[in-house]
Amino acid sequence: MSNTYDAIVIGGGVIGGSIAYNLAKRGSKVLLLEKDRLASKSSGAAAGMLGAQAEMDGVGSLFQLAKKSRGMFPTLANEIKEKTGIDIDLINKGMLKICLNDQDQQENKRIITTQRQNGEEAEWLTGSEIRKKEPAVSEAITGAMYLEKDGHVDATQLTLGFLKSATVLGVVIKEYVEVHSFKFSNGKVTGIETNEGHFTSDKIIVAGGAWSNKILAETGLQLDTYPVKGECFSVVIQQPLLSSTIFSHGCYLVPKKGGRIIVGATVIPRTFNQQVTVEGISLLMEKAKYLVPSIVEAEWERAWAGIRPQTADGLPYLGEHPIYKGLFVATGHFRNGILLSPITGEVIADLVEGKEPPLNLSPFRVERMVKQYT
Ligand SMILES: Cc1cc2nc3c(=O)[nH]c(=O)nc-3n(C[C@H](O)[C@H](O)[C@H](O)COP(=O)(O)OP(=O)(O)OC[C@H]3O[C@@H](n4cnc5c(N)ncnc54)[C@H](O)[C@@H]3O)c2cc1C
Repeated sequence: MSNTYDAIVIGGGVIGGSIAYNLAKRGSKVLLLEKDRLASKSSGAAAGMLGAQAEMDGVGSLFQLAKKSRGMFPTLANEIKEKTGIDIDLINKGMLKICLNDQDQQENKRIITTQRQNGEEAEWLTGSEIRKKEPAVSEAITGAMYLEKDGHVDATQLTLGFLKSATVLGVVIKEYVEVHSFKFSNGKVTGIETNEGHFTSDKIIVAGGAWSNKILAETGLQLDTYPVKGECFSVVIQQPLLSSTIFSHGCYLVPKKGGRIIVGATVIPRTFNQQVTVEGISLLMEKAKYLVPSIVEAEWERAWAGIRPQTADGLPYLGEHPIYKGLFVATGHFRNGILLSPITGEVIADLVEGKEPPLNLSPFRVERMVKQYT
């Protein structure tokens, strides 16, 4: 079998999966390499929230990207279901961004005004209005911003859905293949070396999540990125406890199918350590109990951790390498990689094909902020 491809994607997370899927939809012969198992890193650890309005103020380039991406999920869910039978469990029951004090309330009322001025739907709810909607929310909570359009998906199913759809379209996927180095000729990328030998392509996309900088080190480019550990746990409850996602400082509760609730997430910068700690989980439990006291009745399921890829200015890197033609980077999606995955796949496929993307990508260009550039 030939080792030459139209494009090679490095990384079997949600970003690599979406890029491979989009390239394959356009007829490219694609290889995707993953050093571990598919969806085994950040993408398999995520709570799956599509928090375009909860995570961002409602203005700016990242919000525009996020809003477009959120709007792509209904069609994507159908496409993946049709191609593979995988259900990404898209649930659109809104998000309550809970305020814990007066400062929070003022800030969220300001955000509601900004979002409404920009044509978004955002509503202020008093304590009694919150409990009318979600009776399990604590009496101590006196206000929240309600965001009807911020839903959620099953992050692992989404990632595997992208990857499986890609294979249906002919993408070759190899697990346990680690990319060690690139080959270049006349300022262009020509291939890669791996533990399973050499593969040739003049279009290579680095979607290695928090490990992207390590992959790019030999190219003379050190992106201003850092890893951020996050821990979560899940419980199951017989009587449905929540309908909307409850989102607050340092804690969210995401109601999944079958009475399952994901509680997340800790935020521990600058570590690749993926151990789940008693400290992390007990902190989340205290916060979850404060927000939704009856969660104490739920049955324990499991706990896990993942490493988010963050950047110094909070924007992902989406673009071509400033030195080597044909080498593309898609990383730094931090807390929003699940939300941003559909649009990332589309715009990176545009760049690889030399087409103009539907959005201005200059705020995300790779050379905007590098720590080292030799
Ligand atoms: C606890 C937690 C909760 C989160 N919740 C949400 C949420 O609710 N909503 C949301 O939108 N986002 C959420 N996120 C963020 C989201 O998970 C990430 O932004 C997203 O998964 C990043 O995807 P990725 O494909 O870039 O990275 P990853 O999923 O980490 O994938 C990168 C892959 O590249 C592989 N790789 C690395 N180096 C090499 C190499 N040399 N050769 C081959 N393969 C390599 C890795 O093994 C890995 O599988 C959460 C993250 C965490 C940790």
